[in-house]
Amino acid sequence: MDNTPEQSCIFCSIAAGDAQSEIVYSDDQMVAIKDVNPQAPVHVLLIPREHNLESLNDASKLDLSLLGHLLYIAAKIANRMEIAESGYRVVINTGEAAGQSVAHLHVHLLGGRDLTWPPG
Ligand code: 5GP
Ligand code: ZN
Repeated sequence: MDNTPEQSCIFCSIAAGDAQSEIVYSDDQMVAIKDVNPQAPVHVLLIPREHNLESLNDASKLDLSLLGHLLYIAAKIANRMEIAESGYRVVINTGEAAGQSVAHLHVHLLGGRDLTWPPG
């Protein structure tokens, strides 16, 4: 029998504690972990515990609170990791052309170096 999306999803496994990760923040709605392949001195992924949103395309009004929470906590982590003053970027890659590689909504928090604009 095929696995459910949740069973084969690396971020679900991390959120459940079944796969190893370096957790920097956790609450009932989300976990935040260090990216395994960091693109900046600070590279944190904010991951909802639920798998229901595979990308931002799946978001509905029911998700407004969760989406706001992810951004709010991103700012709190930026402050705690001392990149709030120097500056940071919050990114949600959505879909193939944007480079999304994990089909479980997640927010990137990047900082600790100068970030060029426009992004690649
Ligand atoms: P995306 O390309 O989908 O926007 O971002 C996925 C991110 O997840 C990538 O930056 C990648 O390095 C990270 N990632 C993928 N698998 C793992 C993992 O098992 N552990 C951690 N900590 N990060 C992962
Ligand atoms: Zn998942």
